[in-house]
Amino acid sequence: MTTGIKPAAREAIHVFLEENRKFPPPASFQSQAWVKDESIYERADKDPEGYWAHWAGELDWFKPWTKVLEWKAPYAQWFLGGKLNASVNCVDRHLKGPRKNKTAILWEGEPGDTRSLTYEELSREVNRFANVLKKLGVRKGDRVTLYLPMIPELAIALLASARIGAVHSVIFGGFSAESLRDRINDAQAKILITANRGWRRGKPVALKEAADEALKAAPSIEKVVVVKRGDHPIEFKPGRDLWWHELMKEVSDQCEPEPMESEDLLFILYTSGTTGKPKGIVHTTGGYLTGVYATTKWVFDLKENDIYWCTADIGWVTGHSYVVYGPLANGATVVMYEGAPDWPEKNRFWKLIEKYKVTIFYTAPTAIRAFMKWGDEFPKRSDLSSLRLLGTVGEPINPEAWMWYHEKIGGGRCPVVDTWWQTETGMIMITPLPGVTTLKPGSATKPFPGVSAEVLNEAGETVSVGGGYAALTKPWPAMLRTIFNDSKRYEEEYWLKWKGKAYFTGDGAKRDDEGYFWFLGRVDDVLNVAGHRIGTMEVESALVDHPAVAEAAVVGKSHEIKGQALAAFVTVKEGTAPTPELAQKLKDHVAKKIGVIARPDDIIFSADLPKTRSGKIMRRLLRDIAEGKTLGDTTTLADPQVVARLKDQYEEKEG
Ligand code: ATP
Ligand code: MG
Repeated sequence: MTTGIKPAAREAIHVFLEENRKFPPPASFQSQAWVKDESIYERADKDPEGYWAHWAGELDWFKPWTKVLEWKAPYAQWFLGGKLNASVNCVDRHLKGPRKNKTAILWEGEPGDTRSLTYEELSREVNRFANVLKKLGVRKGDRVTLYLPMIPELAIALLASARIGAVHSVIFGGFSAESLRDRINDAQAKILITANRGWRRGKPVALKEAADEALKAAPSIEKVVVVKRGDHPIEFKPGRDLWWHELMKEVSDQCEPEPMESEDLLFILYTSGTTGKPKGIVHTTGGYLTGVYATTKWVFDLKENDIYWCTADIGWVTGHSYVVYGPLANGATVVMYEGAPDWPEKNRFWKLIEKYKVTIFYTAPTAIRAFMKWGDEFPKRSDLSSLRLLGTVGEPINPEAWMWYHEKIGGGRCPVVDTWWQTETGMIMITPLPGVTTLKPGSATKPFPGVSAEVLNEAGETVSVGGGYAALTKPWPAMLRTIFNDSKRYEEEYWLKWKGKAYFTGDGAKRDDEGYFWFLGRVDDVLNVAGHRIGTMEVESALVDHPAVAEAAVVGKSHEIKGQALAAFVTVKEGTAPTPELAQKLKDHVAKKIGVIARPDDIIFSADLPKTRSGKIMRRLLRDIAEGKTLGDTTTLADPQVVARLKDQYEEKEG
């Protein structure tokens, strides 16, 4: 792999080669775990369909399926003929027994306000809001866009859409008005649900203002439902805008669930996108629910009395699968927190763990690296002894961060599950089983039972030991079904590489002599800034959109905390002065167009960009410059002088 391997990944290779720290499951953990021995891998492997059908059988179906899998590469259909409803599986079925009065959601807002909902209370809210949606004219198959802070209404609205068969599309609250607009238009959503504000580091997040801006050019939206989060004044458009709490008063708390075909759409979720055009990943009902149900139960070894906290925002797939659908389908108690980990102090997460006696904690390596930087004294102030399992997701975790997490947060007693998966996979794919797997810091270990993954080389041949591309070699129930309205792109992006024989993950990986997977980062140009995926193309399009900019190339450079920081090489239009003021303006412009997460850290003005003879920008060389490395092969350059000049200029600037 020649493409930009991140420092975390380099570190992982280092350990892979030179060290081999191993952590077998603690005996006390193993003895009580759902899965205690390895035989399940073989059993699942012998009959994957039977195995997945067994899991599906743990869900509630209105009508059983007649066929487990129909695979016409690259299109899969799972549990054909079966009918079910996701909200029934996440809520109604728990009302029959003692879980009725069990806490489903333990929520805390950033300012410290709290709310808790039992399964019965959650049921009433979900049914009410399902009736609200119906009253607003939402029908089966219609799209509903959600642009909300991390408040219980977000989970309620997802389940309510699912209840009536509407398709939800959640847009992360950190996205800008323009990103929101593009995603609404792509989905042709009928309803937008937002809030008058969110909270982030003590400041209001102006969601409604951004929504108003987006709706200037999103004509498919008929009504806007606004959740009132405190007394933040907003403009209200009569006839279009409606208050959530007022609508909820007018409806009953009984709403018949829509019996959905297993393959009916459950949701669309946009990935960050390697190109400017958002990519709406499509997930359907039966297979998705089966996959997230199974993985939540076994990967987190979830038990009846656990207090489970996944810190992801519901705006990302991790929040869909492991805040809402997976844990609620298992009848878990889920902690939800609205705000930042360092507000009002850098120990907020640890205080929450102590307060709610969290037993299972799932977060991202970027957060763990920030905690490390802030220092051990913050976790030390809280009693973290309730924890029994830790998890990570989102990018490769460097062994140093793994060890810190294991020792300082887990007190050396909690297994750490490093879970590899994607928006597209819907469910965790490569992961330890905490009662079985011997952990190696930095490795996501092995495919979940019933999942087939391999490392393949360019030609699609298996690499048993060594590096290549991570590939998924059999269909799995929660897999994406297509890209919304763009099946051609679905086929090309994921299946063309090996002609339909395996799913191309886009990630580089290595396998060691025990078959463990070590992820090396992505093979394309998508950047990962503080856990947020940012497509270089998206940032480039935003820059070029500014009247002063002629051309732009964006690359990532390693950043101790954020994982990657953005460096933008910009060519200005003739007659424009490349001043520091302009650099500042361009940074703001990107933040406005995409969101603050995409704000470039560096703007480097350049008279020219290094290009190949066919006119393509050589980002590989720009990355070398930004990382201060010796330049790689420059022979394909149209003008090698350009890159040499740029290197001098960059080094001068960095001092
Ligand atoms: P886009 O496809 O638009 O670029 P994205 O891939 O950044 O978006 P996600 O689906 O949230 O968005 O991220 C999945 C990616 O995150 C994986 O392909 C992988 O690169 C990385 N990843 C997730 N978990 C892990 C992990 N445990 N170890 C290593 N990498 C991980
Ligand atoms: Mg991806």
